[in-house]
Amino acid sequence: MADVVAPEKVVSFKYTLRNGEGELLESSGEEAMPYLHGAGNIVPGLERAMQGHAVGDTFDVEVPAAEGYGERIDGTVEVPRSAFPDEVEVSEGMSFVAEGPDGEAFPLWVTGVTDEVVTAEPNHPLAGIDLRFSVEITEIRDASAEELEHGHAHGPDGHHH
Ligand code: ZN
Repeated sequence: MADVVAPEKVVSFKYTLRNGEGELLESSGEEAMPYLHGAGNIVPGLERAMQGHAVGDTFDVEVPAAEGYGERIDGTVEVPRSAFPDEVEVSEGMSFVAEGPDGEAFPLWVTGVTDEVVTAEPNHPLAGIDLRFSVEITEIRDASAEELEHGHAHGPDGHHH
């Protein structure tokens, strides 16, 4: 029986991502992207839709924002530019992890930078957007012990992060 997408498989796929209006947001191009299935490496709605598919399958899936990059959360955060190391080039769209009032980690995305202040929001650039993926599955293989331990896929050249 041919392999199908299941937990502990590394799955490579090509995709295009459009918004609800059909505008192109992202594309893998001709280079398939590998990920470890069942490890939360891709957005939940897409991961669920991949389950059970085989190599060569092509399909479209609509992923509402809540199952994609999340609904948008109100609020901006201002961080002194000096909180970032000098050698780090802070730019719009960059993400970093901040610490909440109870010490919990949460990701922020930069929306503006001046010499003094970095403005950031708790929203991925694609948060609040209903997503439409067109997917082609190109490879399915067993994950290595190392990949399972790390919780992500490694590229064809071995380890790289
Ligand atoms: Zn690794």
